[in-house]
Amino acid sequence: MPDGRFAPSPSARLHLGNLRTALIAWLFARSEGDRFLVRIEDLDPVSSREEHIDTAFADLAAIGLDHDAPVLRQSERRERHEEAVSMLVATGETYPCFCTRREILADAEAAARAPHAPAFAYAGTCRDLGARDRAEREAAGRRPTLRVRGQGRSFRFDDLVAGPTEGMIDDFVIRRADGVPAYNLAVVVDDHDQGIGEVVRGDDLLSTTPRQLFLAELFGFDPPSYAHVPLVLDASGERLAKRHGAVTLADQAELGRSAAQVRGLLAASLGLAAPDEPVSADELLDRFDRRALPRLPWSMPIELLTSSA
Ligand code: GLU
Repeated sequence: MPDGRFAPSPSARLHLGNLRTALIAWLFARSEGDRFLVRIEDLDPVSSREEHIDTAFADLAAIGLDHDAPVLRQSERRERHEEAVSMLVATGETYPCFCTRREILADAEAAARAPHAPAFAYAGTCRDLGARDRAEREAAGRRPTLRVRGQGRSFRFDDLVAGPTEGMIDDFVIRRADGVPAYNLAVVVDDHDQGIGEVVRGDDLLSTTPRQLFLAELFGFDPPSYAHVPLVLDASGERLAKRHGAVTLADQAELGRSAAQVRGLLAASLGLAAPDEPVSADELLDRFDRRALPRLPWSMPIELLTSSA
């Protein structure tokens, strides 16, 4: 059973783009009679907020998306993530990296010119640091991230929405300088441990997926299949964000639009309902065809973000 999931980071309230992705992920899983799990990606203690976890569940329920138990919180999986980091360290394929963000961005610009390089590919500056260089940097108080070597590998996969995709593996971070497990590591371990067979998420994560396939191989996991869905943009083509207006269910409610009406809007954007047609989540299940999803981003008409008309 290719169980599915929705994995929000509680750093802000879900916006309509997140809800649209959640709706698609729910449709993928439920239309096949599979389980649909919610995982809270609260790895980052600084940006994660309890209030955004509460509203995420309330918002999903309000638009009619149910989910199965258990709900996993990544912050409670530190030991498991550390164990996975240790496994990679034991392969001898990891190294500490002392580069600052600014150094990496400068190098990444050059590295990204290579064909199929992921966005912000790491140039490998600290790969071959000798013991003395490492000791010097540590003595200077620099705290390293931990990277795994990409070994010049590249991965191809058939994305269910984006189509055939290929990407090179850079030496990427598996543990941050503050000790927090990196997103790519945690997501691979958690999807595996939760038995997720089908990952449906925003296509901003398409370019990092080869790294996740690489980690799955290193851990000996069967990788899930992937469907990366186009994001929601504002009328001028920018990724939807708070400053664009009524982007959350609460904002939409203030404009007088109910959660059911927002579900209708999202459904219409997917070609599953006529504009303003009232439609239940169950009715959407009957209409859903995973092969007929729009492949282009949805540009939200400005009036939906600013008025109820
Ligand atoms: N937590 C990520 C986000 O909110 C999604 C990660 C994933 O689906 O793999 O963007």
